[in-house]
Amino acid sequence: MSVIIPDSLKPNDGRFGSGPSKIRPEQVAALDAAALGPLGTSHRQTPVKQIVASIREGLTQFFNLPDGYEIALGNGGASAFWEVACACLIERRAAFGTYGSFSSKFAASAKNAPFLEDPAVFEGEPGTYRLPELTEGVDTYCWAHNETSTGVAAPIRRVPGSAEAGALTVIDGTSAAGALPIDISQTDAYYFSPQKAFGSDGGLWVAVLSPAAIERAAKVEASATADGARRWVPPFLSLTQALNNSRKDQTLNTPAVATLIMMENQIRWLNANGGLAWPTARCAESASILYSWAEKSEYAHPFVTDPAARSTAVVTIDLDDALPASQVLAELRANGIVDASGYRKLGRNQLRVGVFPSVDPADVEAFTKCVDYVAERL
Ligand SMILES: *Cc1c(COP(=O)(O)O)cnc(C)c1O
Repeated sequence: MSVIIPDSLKPNDGRFGSGPSKIRPEQVAALDAAALGPLGTSHRQTPVKQIVASIREGLTQFFNLPDGYEIALGNGGASAFWEVACACLIERRAAFGTYGSFSSKFAASAKNAPFLEDPAVFEGEPGTYRLPELTEGVDTYCWAHNETSTGVAAPIRRVPGSAEAGALTVIDGTSAAGALPIDISQTDAYYFSPQKAFGSDGGLWVAVLSPAAIERAAKVEASATADGARRWVPPFLSLTQALNNSRKDQTLNTPAVATLIMMENQIRWLNANGGLAWPTARCAESASILYSWAEKSEYAHPFVTDPAARSTAVVTIDLDDALPASQVLAELRANGIVDASGYRKLGRNQLRVGVFPSVDPADVEAFTKCVDYVAERL
């Protein structure tokens, strides 16, 4: 290690990952409290089912769900939900806005599903967003609320005319849910994994479903059982089975109980602090510390040029070529400040900072001081 950052400059907690992200000590304490049960006990019995019930009730409150909307969950993370959506929500053809790695992956799944027509793909440059446009014959519109690979946040409102045409709006909220403002009534499926803003471990998907999405899944899944149907909906990808289990506060197969416990703790923490408005303001404060620092910096600049597209959950900062991000990151890591690396496949000389609700804005401020300290000495 060549640079030793003085302790007085360092953040109290050096975890700035974009997922997995910082887990608060209180969440780990909740695991400790569960050590003699519910940890290590059956997910079909009351103690674990109460945790799932609390997650479902807590999210209903947090997102202020409109009438008829429901929370479903299952194993496999957001990546699994892409396949669930291909199997159960897209009837024939979907349209996608793609502007980075995650939004593109879902579009690729739909393209590869042999029983779906090739999707309409509206592609934007990394660092911007592009929404899908109203397209004849499209029954499902999909994009990502927060493109984690580039630090871009996209607006969430239905494509005008899409609801009237009976189409669903399916939004990847993975790194946005819990950090960015959202009007759930603009979505039919808003899905996410718990290891981002909910500061838990991975492995689970959670989806907020509208009555239209629930009805669509029932219809599409029934069509797959017809004679000669080309579509195959394996039980593991069945949204209807997932929902039926969720209504009983269970998952189809065995979940990671620790993930549930930590997520439940986080949702209670967010709701106790005032619900959605509180973390969104806190994340916006953290993000603005980074963006204003980068705007003033001699060597660092916000990657996303349109301020309206800048994420307040995942902040991307380009560095001048003279200052290799790999060296800065290595020095930071040696000093206990970790996971602020850019998305590998984006291939930029970049820092990417997860400023989820668990991250203290004061620690974000300290992070900028530490980067300056390292930069001056490299
Ligand atoms: C992390 C992430 C995913 C993938 O989540 P997994 O839990 O790893 O499947 C999908 N979409 C977005 C926007 C993400 O940030």
